[in-house]
Amino acid sequence: MTDTIYAADTAVPLPSEASLPERTDVAIVGGGLTGLSAALHLTRDGFHVTLLEAGRIADGASGRNGGQLHPGQRRDQVWLEQRLGPKMANALWRLGAEAIALVHALRTELNADCGWQPGLIEAAHTPQAFDELRRYRDHLAAHYGTRQEVLSRSALAEAIGTDFYHGGVRDAGGGHLNPLAFAKAIAERAHVEGARLHAGVRVTGHRLTPHGYCVDAQSALGRHQIRAGSVILAGNGYLRRVNPYLDARVMPLVNYILATEPLPARLIAKGEAVADTRHVIRYFREDGAGRMIFGGGEGYRRTPGDVAKLVRPYLAELYPGLRDAPVAAAWAGTLGITRLRMPIIRRLEPGLYVGAGYSGQGVGLATFAGKVIADAIAGETSRLDVLGRLPALPFPGGPMLQTPLARLALFVFALRDRLGR
Ligand SMILES: Cc1cc2nc3c(=O)[nH]c(=O)nc-3n(C[C@H](O)[C@H](O)[C@H](O)COP(=O)(O)OP(=O)(O)OC[C@H]3O[C@@H](n4cnc5c(N)ncnc54)[C@H](O)[C@@H]3O)c2cc1C
Repeated sequence: MTDTIYAADTAVPLPSEASLPERTDVAIVGGGLTGLSAALHLTRDGFHVTLLEAGRIADGASGRNGGQLHPGQRRDQVWLEQRLGPKMANALWRLGAEAIALVHALRTELNADCGWQPGLIEAAHTPQAFDELRRYRDHLAAHYGTRQEVLSRSALAEAIGTDFYHGGVRDAGGGHLNPLAFAKAIAERAHVEGARLHAGVRVTGHRLTPHGYCVDAQSALGRHQIRAGSVILAGNGYLRRVNPYLDARVMPLVNYILATEPLPARLIAKGEAVADTRHVIRYFREDGAGRMIFGGGEGYRRTPGDVAKLVRPYLAELYPGLRDAPVAAAWAGTLGITRLRMPIIRRLEPGLYVGAGYSGQGVGLATFAGKVIADAIAGETSRLDVLGRLPALPFPGGPMLQTPLARLALFVFALRDRLGR
């Protein structure tokens, strides 16, 4: 997999232990934000924690994403109210706010050098989408007390340096950061406080025995078995054939990002993150070094070949002046989506937990899920109880049909975007 600009920026190696323990209180499968946050919080609660990561720590979606921090859930509040009722929608809104607060608390406490920049703009790709954005902004103001600024077409063009969009809203509650630097800060602190983080160890299965869980794993040194009181499945879009429940409910989707070399002048005047209203979202931001980090296009192949060639037309459509801008790096990452685009954060059976399926909005929610699961293992289950009530529907046809289904869904979404629907 290609390296990101984040990997080049964060040169210090992430912690990794050599030998695996035979027993642990909690085994965590996956070293992204979900697993790392769980490891840190469980260690603070006094548990012996063993995190098993197939590749490198934080080299999954958590270390290769767009770095945008979005308030709320992946589904908007109107959808949540209609599908789940106002009480649940309210509870999810509050949990979304807690997720944002947790990111800020962690980056401050850990002194994470992750270039936090406040401000998020949602940009409408059609006039109808702009109407919807304004209606939704009024709904949030009336029912949730938020204050978002509406940007007319010309105000938006001035704010982001392209007149491609029809208008937008500015949300001061969101923002962006270097996701790998943030994840690394959590990993390093978890390691310092006693969590054992093992890179290069792939979990192949887990089973309940009379003495707790037995986790089977494979590394360059051979096969391993670890006994664990609890197991957290935190492999998200990368976890396959370990747990059939998740295989049926979390579909991997590959997303692409291109980062330019530092630009001669800033295009986004106040430095916000920008995400548009398409089904296949285009999202972008300029980092502290002045590089445009631009995400666009989705697929189902982990190694899609020339990622820069794939993303550049989307970038050039918005910013024709960047058609030939030198590229610092271009890379792919795999996210996990669910059928309803709501995460699966729950206890699957006594001692077996999962946090996954953030559907492209995991910087805040994955970090939060790790803490919620850690709290539940320590006996504080109130938040997990709420999240565990979210419906988690299997995709039709089972895992075998996921690639053709993903292909079809992407085709339909791209078509709807082109038709302006
Ligand atoms: C290109 C891209 C852009 C994105 N942009 C944004 C954004 O701007 N804002 C936002 O909020 N979200 C974004 N997301 C989503 C966000 O990155 C994820 O939701 C979040 O990082 C999920 O964290 P995680 O820890 O659950 O999973 P991951 O970070 O993917 O970590 C899972 C880890 O589990 C490991 N693993 C899997 N199976 C096994 C196994 N059997 N044994 C051991 N280890 C295993 C993997 O190697 C991986 O390291 C983006 C995602 C991608 C791919």
